[in-house]
Amino acid sequence: MTVQKPFWETKSLERMSAREWESLCDGCGLCCLIRFEDEETGEIIPTRVACKLFDSSVCRCSDYAHRKDQVPDCIKLTPHNIEDLQWMPPSCAYRRLHEGKPLPAWHPLITGDPESVHRAGVSVRGQTLSEATLADPEDALDYVAEDLLRDKSDVWDF
Ligand code: SF4
Ligand code: SF4
Repeated sequence: MTVQKPFWETKSLERMSAREWESLCDGCGLCCLIRFEDEETGEIIPTRVACKLFDSSVCRCSDYAHRKDQVPDCIKLTPHNIEDLQWMPPSCAYRRLHEGKPLPAWHPLITGDPESVHRAGVSVRGQTLSEATLADPEDALDYVAEDLLRDKSDVWDF
């Protein structure tokens, strides 16, 4: 009997269908956080403050289809710009596949369960506050949380 390998092990990011591409997103929400860049070191510093469209209770964009109307600088990830997106978390499936790494064991495509990313402690569900609640965007600096971008790809407890 021949066991067929899953699409993410056989296809390049460029050859994936739109549906396959979208299914790679594990729903962690880490790319919707407000980040700062250290001007001297280039280091990306995440905060617990999320984009105004991010719904923390379900850990996803509340208006994904029209997000560009309200958040023009929201970056649409494609196989062609992933090279420039080194601020994406190390656990992000797009980044990992681009770097030739496997999907984490807790990824919903592997477990078949969208909750596994949350049980693994990778997602930010229920842990963010909205930028809309800040009086000044710079106040996000009060919520720096560097641990959020720590690589949790090897978590096995989920
Ligand atoms: S960081 Fe990657 S996997 Fe997580 S929500 Fe963003 S695109 Fe999806
Ligand atoms: S617009 Fe939506 S997808 Fe873009 S950063 Fe905000 S919440 Fe995330």
